Amino acid sequence: MSSAPWSLHVLSEVLAAFTVRSPTALRDVMSRVAEAVDAEITAIMDGAQSDFQHCVGLEDHQKFLLAAAVEERLPVLSLAGVPLHLYWAPLDGGAVMVVGRFREAYSLEERALLRAMGRSIQLSTQMLAALKAEQEAKDLAIREATIDALTGLPNRRYLLAHLGAGLDPSSGGRLQIGLLFIDFDRFKHINDVYGHSVGDAYLQAVGVALGQFHDADTFVARLAGDEFIVVVASANIGILTDLADRILQCLKQPVKIRGRLLHYSASIGVALAEPGDRPQDLLDKADMAMYSVKQLLPGGYACFEPNMLDQARRKAVLESEIRSALLQDEVIAFFQPIISSLHGGVVGFEALARWLHPRRGLLTPKDFIEVAEDAGLLRDLDARILRDACCSFSGWQSVQKGFNPRLSINISAATLQDPTLIERVKESLVSSGLKARNLLLEVTESSLVKNVERAQHNILSLKKMGVKLAVDDFGTGYSSLRYLRQFPVSMLKIDRSFVSGLGQSYDDKVIVETILRMAASLGIQVVAEGVETEEQRAILSRMGCEFLQGYLLGHPLDSPMSDQFLARSERRRNWLRQPIV
Ligand code: C2E
Ligand code: CA
Ligand code: CA
Repeated sequence: MSSAPWSLHVLSEVLAAFTVRSPTALRDVMSRVAEAVDAEITAIMDGAQSDFQHCVGLEDHQKFLLAAAVEERLPVLSLAGVPLHLYWAPLDGGAVMVVGRFREAYSLEERALLRAMGRSIQLSTQMLAALKAEQEAKDLAIREATIDALTGLPNRRYLLAHLGAGLDPSSGGRLQIGLLFIDFDRFKHINDVYGHSVGDAYLQAVGVALGQFHDADTFVARLAGDEFIVVVASANIGILTDLADRILQCLKQPVKIRGRLLHYSASIGVALAEPGDRPQDLLDKADMAMYSVKQLLPGGYACFEPNMLDQARRKAVLESEIRSALLQDEVIAFFQPIISSLHGGVVGFEALARWLHPRRGLLTPKDFIEVAEDAGLLRDLDARILRDACCSFSGWQSVQKGFNPRLSINISAATLQDPTLIERVKESLVSSGLKARNLLLEVTESSLVKNVERAQHNILSLKKMGVKLAVDDFGTGYSSLRYLRQFPVSMLKIDRSFVSGLGQSYDDKVIVETILRMAASLGIQVVAEGVETEEQRAILSRMGCEFLQGYLLGHPLDSPMSDQFLARSERRRNWLRQPIV
């Protein structure tokens, strides 16, 4: 039998054991309790489900009897004819601490000791549970703030902290850091065509694939959208490009999502940390390298070079220049005639954006449209051209004399979805006096198909107003015939790439013939773009293509010259119509 000081010792051990967060702590405590009263059995009986993990030296059927006895709160249980004296103390959540001693009943002193121990265990478990809940809440908060919910990878915040620690010389950071900036090619396509849930599932699969590259020297994070970052503890360019290669191979594998095999590639920019780099600097360099890959060779990788910095600066300057050019009306509409192949007269004009740059002179869209698009300025540009073109065109003397060709305006995917488009079109029609039936909006195939749902309202409203829709660059995008019937399309523009092959490529001839036949059967008019030679014009006329556009028939000209062009063309037609006397 144990003495009083011994029991105090056990009590303090009980409390101490619980401050150590170890799964064996409670088991140890229970065996100390058993020792304190010379008991053979200790157990924690957990509510309805008896948990015998702390139970020592009982066979299964005996445990069953013990559980029943505790349930009934029996003070003594006979096991194989030997009395087992039981003591139990309530713990938390309906659990009971059970102490069993064969033969000898507990004295009053022992009972008091056991009660005190039970109480200590109870308090300790309560304390532990509170601590655990607090820790879990903390862990969750940290997780939520630093882990990307979709992929489970570290998020931007975690990445920046990780990079910050690696780049900070005062925190022992080494400059042996390389970074891969991964961005998917045409990722928007997944969301546009299959919907966001498929896009999300694809990103999750990418997260799993990239997670395999995570190790002691390699840190993988998701920056945003379809951008992923790999930080490598190495400044060896060979190691980095080898990793970039392996990642590209891995990401090229098709991914099966909801029964569909999705096949997308990624581009990677590689950059090495240099002294003085902050996390964002390193990210920017790798981003620039990635951007250069997208321009030259999507699906590959490139390492950062200092001249990329100049390019990025030039792009930033251009972007701010475009913003002010749009405000200061430096961007204006030029007009290219569309000619009838039957009578050679002008049937319409296409408005094309031109920038009268104060230093660089006249710029065409290839000099600025991509930067404008990246900067989200295409809607402003389209709105500007719509207003300028309608207004200039209606002011032409040739138009005011009653001759009424059609005016075609290019609109981007962003404009097609713009909720203010209809208002803008109405405004332009009212202020210029142009008739809705003489206005045509040109939309590329891809922007029409990609944004079906978001553009539907605008397309139907335009139709109601009597404004026509033309599909631009036809044949280069989806070439799905379904949408030609689905949308009120009145005109197709055969892309220049097919027209330029006429007379040389049999394939192009077949494609153009097929488009013409199909359009005729759907009652849609056709313009052939980029007609540059007499041979192309003759072939297209023979094939029955009704309208032609291209340098052979007229270059894009500014507004006054276009007015003269139209007047001349009308005079010639009138003269040709004169009866020969
Ligand atoms: P697009 O809509 O396909 O316009 C036809 C382009 O082909 C024009 O180039 C035109 O100058 C050029 N072109 C016409 N005939 C010939 C030819 O015989 N040979 C060759 N090689 N080219 C010919 P541009 O004006 O440089 O415009 C390029 C593209 O920029 C346009 O292609 C259009 O997609 C876009 N764009 C132009 N203006 C606007 C605008 O106001 N808004 C939007 N969103 N895009 C515009
Ligand atoms: Ca066009
Ligand atoms: Ca075109």
